[in-house]
Amino acid sequence: MKNIIFLAPPNGGKGTLSEMLVEKYGYGHISTGDLLRDEIAAKTELGREVENIMKSGKLVSDEIILKLIANRITKPDCANGYILDGFPRTKVQAEKYEELLQKLGKDLGIVIYIDITKEMALNRSISRITCPKCKKIYNKFSEQMRPKVEWICDDCGVELVQREDDKKETFIKRFDEYMDKTMPLYEYYKNKGVLETIKAYPDKFDTFNEAIQVIEK
Ligand code: AMP
Repeated sequence: MKNIIFLAPPNGGKGTLSEMLVEKYGYGHISTGDLLRDEIAAKTELGREVENIMKSGKLVSDEIILKLIANRITKPDCANGYILDGFPRTKVQAEKYEELLQKLGKDLGIVIYIDITKEMALNRSISRITCPKCKKIYNKFSEQMRPKVEWICDDCGVELVQREDDKKETFIKRFDEYMDKTMPLYEYYKNKGVLETIKAYPDKFDTFNEAIQVIEK
């Protein structure tokens, strides 16, 4: 299986699409945001270091992220292919990641850019709730993505939470950070000939079907 990098703004649908593709193909799923939130929940030194940065909507340092990635992509669940959900987010991360791949003899795979308007991403941000245990993503206002019981995870029975950085003001900061630091990767990967674009639709299965088409091309 080709490794996949998702390139999309905050609330662009990377997490939901990753969940669906992991279920269909058995990819390893690497969400750098989830890895960092786990560190915060476990109150580790790293967690304490990144907590306020994440709350402010800023990016965590490239150095920290690259260490997490180097450790994670060598795990057994990634041996047959993995999805990078939220990495790379800067040009330095992209370049260092390629050096790492070269050392490990792994392929870059494909980069899937999710085309979504700022307005649609914002609406998703204020309505997103997640399971702190299994990380499943729900949407309070979507018929399709609402939990069966309000604020309870369908799979774990755990109480769902709203992410601190999903508030409108923080979303806007995260979006600006994305436009400034991450969007240049669009041209970077386009020039390498590995970029595919899919559209974000209101129905997650429409987006999923477009993703399948580019993966199986
Ligand atoms: P996410 O769950 O992908 O939306 O990420 C949540 C937050 O974690 C971001 O706003 C950043 O503060 C931090 N983060 C996640 N991935 C990265 C990354 N690749 N580089 C820098 N910061 C990151």
